Amino acid sequence: MADWRSELGSRLRGEVRHDERLAPRTSIRVGGPADLLIRPADADDLAALLRGVAELGVPLTVLGGGANTLVADAGVEGVVLRLPPELAEERVEGDLLTLPAGAPIARLPARGHALGLVGAEFLAGIPGTLGGALAMNAGTRAGQLSDVLVQAELATADGIGWVPAAALGLGYRVSRLPAGAVVTRLACRLRPGDVARSRAAMEADVAHRRATQPLSQPSFGSTFRNPPGRFAGELIEQVGLKGHRVGNAMWSDVHANFLVNLGGATARDVLQLMKLARTRVKERLAVTLEAEVRLVGQFVAEDVQEG
Ligand SMILES: Cc1cc2nc3c(=O)[nH]c(=O)nc-3n(C[C@H](O)[C@H](O)[C@H](O)COP(=O)(O)OP(=O)(O)OC[C@H]3O[C@@H](n4cnc5c(N)ncnc54)[C@H](O)[C@@H]3O)c2cc1C
Repeated sequence: MADWRSELGSRLRGEVRHDERLAPRTSIRVGGPADLLIRPADADDLAALLRGVAELGVPLTVLGGGANTLVADAGVEGVVLRLPPELAEERVEGDLLTLPAGAPIARLPARGHALGLVGAEFLAGIPGTLGGALAMNAGTRAGQLSDVLVQAELATADGIGWVPAAALGLGYRVSRLPAGAVVTRLACRLRPGDVARSRAAMEADVAHRRATQPLSQPSFGSTFRNPPGRFAGELIEQVGLKGHRVGNAMWSDVHANFLVNLGGATARDVLQLMKLARTRVKERLAVTLEAEVRLVGQFVAEDVQEG
């Protein structure tokens, strides 16, 4: 299907880039190219894209801010979709804010503050887009997106519609979005409150992150989910891997659940480190670590096998 690229490109008005490197579009700065990287012009263009990939049988991957994604060195087959931050209009109805999924996560608390609304402080310092925050049910021990999400608008090849938050299977850093669904808008309920206090809490949280996380180095935040009652970073440290390096990737010596790119790391380096941590933690501490980071693209089977 050599010509699917030009066929798809001819149906769209948005930005279509061929063989576009994805590393610069992820926070860990690792990974190969996408066959096509597409940024639709508007909601109609997105609908045309979704119909097009379904008709032509082209695989579709959604990329938000790339803050929780590891792209394979070989890249990603088919289309990688990025939503523009302004795909849909914002709406305010009392304390209910409707925002486009391609907007930065920070927009939700910021828009709330401008309206005298609080309640999304737990999003302070979390990079990425609102669509990615929904897919990951992003948050901290203080709260998670599902605490404020009322409903989400989902687009598929069959059309677009609103789905209540309760139907999205949101749990600890997981969601169960229908296969092939793209989140296009989120409706979140905040509450009237003390904006100065909310801002101060968020600033304190960001300062705490600066002191405890390796924010000057590329990473995807927490690599593994915290197992029940445990902290993945402590387990990785206990098995002697804090500061351990493979190629140009390293388990951070600041926060052991952060895997950092020292410059020129490959997805293979990253996976080797993850495998090593999983194997050692299982063997020595009898705890199974599960990845929080999402793997995207064509990986070599032996690299992704569970350690
Ligand atoms: C320094 C740092 C600190 C971090 N701290 C935290 C933290 O405290 N808490 C936390 O939860 N996370 C944290 N993260 C991880 C990350 O910020 C979150 O997971 C965030 O929600 C990812 O959003 P994104 O848009 O970058 O998603 P991406 O990485 O682009 O995508 C993640 C997943 O969401 C899917 N997706 C994205 N957009 C859409 C859409 N519109 N429709 C359907 N699916 C979509 C993708 O297909 C993929 O499966 C941190 C990351 C970094 C780098």
